[in-house]
Amino acid sequence: MKKFALLLIPLLLVPHHINAIENQKDTKQLKAAIIIDDFGGGTGGVRDFLEGDIPITAAVMPFTENSKAHAEWAHKNGFEVMVHLPMEPKRGKKSWLGPKPITVDLSPEEIRDRVKKAINSVPYAVGINNHMGSKAVEDEKIVRIIVEVAKEKNFYIFDSRTSPETKFPKVARELGVPLLQRDVFLDDISSSSFVRKQMLRLAKVTEFNGQGIAIGHVGVTGKVCSLGIFHSMDEFQKRNIKIVPASKLFNETLIEKQLVP
Ligand SMILES: [Zn+2]
Repeated sequence: MKKFALLLIPLLLVPHHINAIENQKDTKQLKAAIIIDDFGGGTGGVRDFLEGDIPITAAVMPFTENSKAHAEWAHKNGFEVMVHLPMEPKRGKKSWLGPKPITVDLSPEEIRDRVKKAINSVPYAVGINNHMGSKAVEDEKIVRIIVEVAKEKNFYIFDSRTSPETKFPKVARELGVPLLQRDVFLDDISSSSFVRKQMLRLAKVTEFNGQGIAIGHVGVTGKVCSLGIFHSMDEFQKRNIKIVPASKLFNETLIEKQLVP
């Protein structure tokens, strides 16, 4: 009996020791995600991103001529895909919204149906983020339906934070759906030097929080956006920040939670 207990001790110690080393390694490696919005729509930088070697996450608009093709192209080349769900904004033209958007005048059944169909029109997607939506994301009833569908599909929610009053964090927490939020917009101004400046902000946020998330766009600003990101990679390497698919940031959060007593 005594002999058995002695044998057991090293067995218990070894995995614990390995875990400690693993945790240490993971917390040292800073991670940032770059979400590129509006695939499926404008051409701009589609090829620059999808044939490039920076592991961006491709947010693809549903129901467009290129939704399926862009999602398949991204997946084939190893990029993570999410559904870029169009949602009603407070300002802006209706035409910017794209087909079948989530608007506040829809019935709950129509919203549920549109979200499900949007997911079906973007193959390989593993998450949902919002395109525009400053009005609709403030409506808890609408947000709840989207998060419920995400839960059914095992999707994560990526809140683009187009309104400070967004209900995504509250509802996602309530329903236990994984949520990420944007820290930095990369291309509000269409110049690669501006994108580089914003990438530096992303690096600083990542160093401060242990992880960071930026959004860029593939359309009108796509070319300068991809150039600005590309030219920032040396700086990210120097700072030991790795660009990862958005879903890889959840592991980091889990490790942090484990470390907190
Ligand atoms: Zn968008």
